[in-house]
Amino acid sequence: MSQDRHEERQQRLKQKVDERIDAAQLERGILIVFTGNGKGKTTAAFGTACRAVGHGKKVAVVQFIKGSWDNGERNLLEPHGVPFYVMSTGFTWETQNKHTDTQACLETWLHALQLLQDPQYDLVILDELTYMVSYHYLPLAEVMNALSCRPENQSVIITGRGCHRELLEFADTVTEMRPIKHAFDAGIKAQKGIDW
Ligand code: ATP
Ligand code: MG
Repeated sequence: MSQDRHEERQQRLKQKVDERIDAAQLERGILIVFTGNGKGKTTAAFGTACRAVGHGKKVAVVQFIKGSWDNGERNLLEPHGVPFYVMSTGFTWETQNKHTDTQACLETWLHALQLLQDPQYDLVILDELTYMVSYHYLPLAEVMNALSCRPENQSVIITGRGCHRELLEFADTVTEMRPIKHAFDAGIKAQKGIDW
C-alpha cells in the first residue's frame, strides 16, 4: 500500500475513533467480568486494582477461593490500604465439603455485601465469585440484587470460569480468556510471582 493510501486510511480510522470517544458521555461505575479457561483473569483484576490505587482510589478485594500459597498481590496491596477478605476454612481448589464451604462462602459474602453498599469504595474485586454461584453456595438473585443496588460510581470486577449467563448479561464489560497454550501442560510447575 502506498504511503498516501496508508495515511488516508489511518486518518479515517482516527476520525471514527474520535467520533466514538465523543459519543461516550456516560459516567458511572461499571461491572467487569473476566471469565474463560485461559490464564489471566485474576491477574487482570489485580492489574486494574493497581491502576486504581495508583490514582488514589479506594479498592477492596474479596477472594472466594484461597490459593494454597501466599499471595503476592495481597503482600503488595494491603500495605497500600487495600483490605482483603479471603474465604477461610481452608477451602481450596482441592478440598470441597458442601456444608462447610457454603457456610464459609456466605460469611465471606457478608463482607462483599458491606463493600457493595459503601460508596467510599471505588472498586470492589470479587475474585473467583463465579464458582460460588455455579456450586449453588450463593444464590444468584442475592448477587444480582447487591450488584444492582451498589453505589452509582462504584465499579466491580468478577473473575472465574463459567460465569452465569445472567451476570454476563448484566455486566458492562466481559472478557473471555481463551487458552491457546499453558506452560503447565508442558509440565512446567506453577511459579511464585507468575502464578500466585
Ligand atoms: P491467574 O491468577 O494466573 O490470572 P486465572 O485467574 O485466569 O489465573 P484460575 O482459574 O483462577 O485462573 O487459576 C488458578 C491457578 O491456575 C493460577 O495459579 C493460574 O496461574 C493457573 N492457571 C490458570 N489457567 C490455567 C490453565 N489453562 N492451565 C493450568 N493452570 C492454569
Ligand atoms: Mg483466578
